Amino acid sequence: MNKSLVVQKYGGTSVGTLDRIRHVAQRIARIRETGTQVVVVVSAMAGETDKLVKMAREICDNPERREMDLLLSSGERISSALLTMALQSRGIPAISMTGRQIGLQTDSVHTRARIKQIDAKRARQALKNNNVIVVAGFQGINEQGDVTTLGRGGSDTSAVALAVALGASQCEIYTDVDGVYTADPRMVPKARKLDVVSYDEMLEMASLGAKVLQIRCVEFAHKFQMPLVVKSSYIEGGKGTLICEENANMEQPVVSGIMYDKNQAKITLKEVPDQPGIAANIFEPIAAAGLSVDMIIQNISAEGHTDLSFTLGREELNEAMVIMEKIAKKIHAVNVSADSKISKISIVGAGMRSHSGVAARIFKSLSKEKINILMISTSEIKVSCIIEQKHTKAAVNALHKAFGLDKKPTAVKSIEKQKTATRKKSKAKKK
Ligand code: ADP
Ligand code: ASP
Ligand code: MG
Repeated sequence: MNKSLVVQKYGGTSVGTLDRIRHVAQRIARIRETGTQVVVVVSAMAGETDKLVKMAREICDNPERREMDLLLSSGERISSALLTMALQSRGIPAISMTGRQIGLQTDSVHTRARIKQIDAKRARQALKNNNVIVVAGFQGINEQGDVTTLGRGGSDTSAVALAVALGASQCEIYTDVDGVYTADPRMVPKARKLDVVSYDEMLEMASLGAKVLQIRCVEFAHKFQMPLVVKSSYIEGGKGTLICEENANMEQPVVSGIMYDKNQAKITLKEVPDQPGIAANIFEPIAAAGLSVDMIIQNISAEGHTDLSFTLGREELNEAMVIMEKIAKKIHAVNVSADSKISKISIVGAGMRSHSGVAARIFKSLSKEKINILMISTSEIKVSCIIEQKHTKAAVNALHKAFGLDKKPTAVKSIEKQKTATRKKSKAKKK
């Protein structure tokens, strides 16, 4: 491990204007003064990727994913070149690199490619020559040499992968909030910053909508035990949030966060014949198209028919509906409909493993707000509910309050301690 090397990633808002880029250059200059080597990964300037996506959709209904990748990768190239120039103008030796130049090799799944390996020879040489390397995040190349991108938010993953490949001591993610919160601080004014979060919890949070870190970045960090720190690029100092392996000293709150995801859609098939093989008929073609279904709900059968609903990411809705309309005819379903005005609200906490009653509390607080639950799913450390999208803010705030997340956490450890104390007291009484 190279203790004096740090990988820092700056997100879109952190490099959103030329002033912000100059500010980042200043921060890097200060770190260099301490003798630390820096590899920087940048996102496209804020709004740039959305703008490129919009342009592509205006020119073509269904743009080829390969072409999308070449287009979208350009946003990160702009910010890496500009930041490099800002560093050079301060007299700091710096070099910009694209995904290809940094040796980031991926599979060929355009627009959501996975990193296969990093050939960091050139990066090592640049570091030997005392350069700051400014990497265009979010991109790599496949075996054919075509440009690929890593999915929205993918610069986070580029940063972790580089930190691992170069043996950095940690990977720092600089963004527009000063850490990971109990809920999106823009949605829940009373959200509280968490000092430490385990990889497992962060993985759940990211997959359930906390877009502060891309899911794959957390998977990667977990796999290679790379400590991740989330900090604000606007604030000097500050400890941010550390994401690391769960350990015995960590407080384990029953619930550590409330997440929401508005990017969901629901498809319902009405009056499907209730026969063996029907579910396979429906979900096999969906899986074959590479679409991933999240929740599934099937009603109790009446007169040999049943209704079946499932959810998936909203960007996959159109593709899924084309498939479902064909299937509906084949299996003689009465009709198929789509609803994209839904949200998934999730409650996450490693302490749920040893605690019951979380689901009941969720249902009670949503019912108090008169919010109807459309679907429910649970796992070891989370409970998710689908609700109407218009209730998102009310639901997240109500649950945040119901679980006391704005206050000091209710740690499982302290609950256990309380229980032991009560047990001892009642034993003493009996005696
Ligand atoms: P960047 O451009 O730096 O990658 P993102 O917009 O991808 O930044 O992620 C940061 C945003 O994530 C914050 O502005 C915040 O609104 C949002 N967010 C959602 N959930 C959380 C959470 N639990 N903690 C912190 N931020 C969150
Ligand atoms: N620019 C890309 C996006 O907006 C990647 C990133 O910012 O991480 O999703
Ligand atoms: Mg991001």
